[in-house]
Amino acid sequence: MSAASPLPEGLAELALPLERLVSPKSAGPLKKHLGLGTVGELLNHFPRRYLNRGELMPIEQVPLNEDVTIMARVLSAGDRRPMRGRKGHIQDFVVTDDSGISTLKVTFFNNFGAQSQLKPGVLALFSGKVTLYQRQRNLTSPDYELLPDDELSGQEADFKAQRPVPVYPATAKVSSWRIEKVVAAVLDAVDLDVLPDPLPAEIAARERVPSLAESYRQIHQPMLAEEWQRARDRFRFQEALVLQTALARRRFQAAAEEATARRGSAEGLLARFDSALPFTLTNGQQEVGAVLAGELAAHHPMNRLLQGEVGSGKTVVALRAMLQVIDSGGQAALLAPTEVLAAQHYESIRSILGPLAEGGMLGGFDGGTQVTLLTGSQSAAARKRALLDTASGTAGIVVGTHALLSDNVQFFDLGLIVVDEQHRFGVEQRDLLRSKAVKPPHLLVMTATPIPRTVAMTVFGDLETSTLRELPAGRAPISTHIAGLENPRWVQRIWARAREEIDAGHQVYVVCPKIGTDDDGDGSLPPADEPSLSARASRELAEVTAVVEQLNLERALAGTRIEALHGKLDPTAKAETMAAFAAGDVDVLVSTTVIEVGVDVPNATLMVILDADRFGISQLHQLRGRVGRGGLPGTCVLVTALEPGHPSRRRLDAVAATTDGFVLSQEDLKLRREGDILGASQSGGRSTLRLLRALQHEDIIAQAREDAWAIVEKDSYLLDHPALDAAIEGYLNPDNEAFLERG
Ligand code: ADP
Ligand code: MG
Repeated sequence: MSAASPLPEGLAELALPLERLVSPKSAGPLKKHLGLGTVGELLNHFPRRYLNRGELMPIEQVPLNEDVTIMARVLSAGDRRPMRGRKGHIQDFVVTDDSGISTLKVTFFNNFGAQSQLKPGVLALFSGKVTLYQRQRNLTSPDYELLPDDELSGQEADFKAQRPVPVYPATAKVSSWRIEKVVAAVLDAVDLDVLPDPLPAEIAARERVPSLAESYRQIHQPMLAEEWQRARDRFRFQEALVLQTALARRRFQAAAEEATARRGSAEGLLARFDSALPFTLTNGQQEVGAVLAGELAAHHPMNRLLQGEVGSGKTVVALRAMLQVIDSGGQAALLAPTEVLAAQHYESIRSILGPLAEGGMLGGFDGGTQVTLLTGSQSAAARKRALLDTASGTAGIVVGTHALLSDNVQFFDLGLIVVDEQHRFGVEQRDLLRSKAVKPPHLLVMTATPIPRTVAMTVFGDLETSTLRELPAGRAPISTHIAGLENPRWVQRIWARAREEIDAGHQVYVVCPKIGTDDDGDGSLPPADEPSLSARASRELAEVTAVVEQLNLERALAGTRIEALHGKLDPTAKAETMAAFAAGDVDVLVSTTVIEVGVDVPNATLMVILDADRFGISQLHQLRGRVGRGGLPGTCVLVTALEPGHPSRRRLDAVAATTDGFVLSQEDLKLRREGDILGASQSGGRSTLRLLRALQHEDIIAQAREDAWAIVEKDSYLLDHPALDAAIEGYLNPDNEAFLERG
């Protein structure tokens, strides 16, 4: 919205700076510490929860060392005493919850107000950080606020005392009730009835939500629990609609962009590739292939997410799309998250294309193309060559890491971008690559992490999605076992089992959470659902270097060839080790999660994951997808030192129980915090969504999406929906914008 244009009535109210309504002393800290500068920002800063005056939160459940707001009753007030070695005095109070048993010691320095106000029996809100000292919970110099309380006023019980107490997201500098007071002043000063409602009237009526004005009053100053619940439902739906409309509009605009149609040709590379393919495409591959072919041939850019298990044949589908583009005179770029993966893609694409990839070379097919690799670790000469082939168009397919994004990479005519394993690529990177094409290129994002429907609708709402559900025939099943170290026989059994595989001519992966050279592994973050992490951090975790040494001494493995692979190795060493393993020259590959994605060695049949409890569900599932790829049954052993029944070991049970990635990703989602799923954790730790939870509110999201589509279809610029348009602008702060662009 441009600064010059006058805001419509109501919107102007929302944009009003708080200092215009309340004293700078009240407004200043809100702006400074919470970023709340306008009426709209404050009104949309909703209470996180509500306290019931009847029920105090058990003090034992109050989290330690976090900013908290606690309601408690004063049990006793200690004597005021002088401070040792300093001027001034100190006074302790003991407060309690409903149990009257667990208590909290509250200490004030030089606070005469506290002495006169915090009489035994008084109910108050306290805000600060609770710490544990000598097994006693302490709260030092908290901010506090007395609550009107019917126990004290007896017969004349103030009706106000029955009201739920809103608890706002607050900070040490601005307590919840200071926010509450400013909100009260603003609610009084602003004519809420003129505020424009982002929910179109018909939708508000259908959803039977209270009016916007009523909702603001009820979410901030509820008289009854039902009131804030109703108000929250309305704002939740409103949030879903705002988000879905933003996505729908984005998708609509993307679809309206012009792209070069890449129709392919009847006798081109794709046709030859298909006729030479050593297997038949699965039904899923054919169906998705037809969809992609149609979209590539259109004058608007394709924006599609392709999901499917590891090994479901996504790469083949993507390759066929690339060939269609090459057949139409364009180029395709394949962006991989790591050097290892880029090199693997490069090799496997070249080998599957055979003579088709030897365009211009002796013995190659006349109309063939070239596949080029572009990575950061190439020699200067190889890189120069690759850059030239890319710029001249000689290279039909350019495979690379983020080196593809650097300034000096120019394409002759980039028609299709394929992003493999999207979750490791940022928005800016994708946009950078897009900017290398004259017209918007077609985009295909591939992910092996199955994404539940609602998350897809929320996070990738602007991409169309396709899913490969079946694995190619002949794919042998993977059996997964948990090896608890509480049973010492397991340890020996594992390496004996590895020996059996090797003797049968197969290969073995051993995965460790750490490298062993003063590091924390290759970014295999401890799973987010691990509360007792610090307690366990002291235990030694399996490290690649140590495990290699140990296995070299292991009798069962005598005479086998064991190598290490991890992110700290230099790229040449990494590539060599990977190539040796792929060639069957290494029996046991001990590695970190560098092998997590995409690596394809069909002869590997056993994977042993050490300290498996350190990995997340989807990571484990991805990892085990590395075995059982060559028609040979795969086995995965999850080794853990945790005792059966330990919460983190249940995660392993889930992985062992099913190989259905969709079931597992639902499971995973339940265990993780929302912010992690939506990727907001990197941008400051708070989830981008305010009231919505992707899994919990599936119905709401689906309904809002339908509504959003209907709105955007008729009114794509939201000219008839100014309030909704403004709400989107307001919602899209930079964090949220990035969130929309993921995918
Ligand atoms: P993804 O990228 O989904 O992990 P790939 O496309 O790399 O899967 O396929 C995994 C392996 O299966 C590759 O070796 C590939 O050649 C093979 N493959 C792909 N599609 C089929 C199919 N329809 N039938 C048999 N093998 C297939
Ligand atoms: Mg793949």
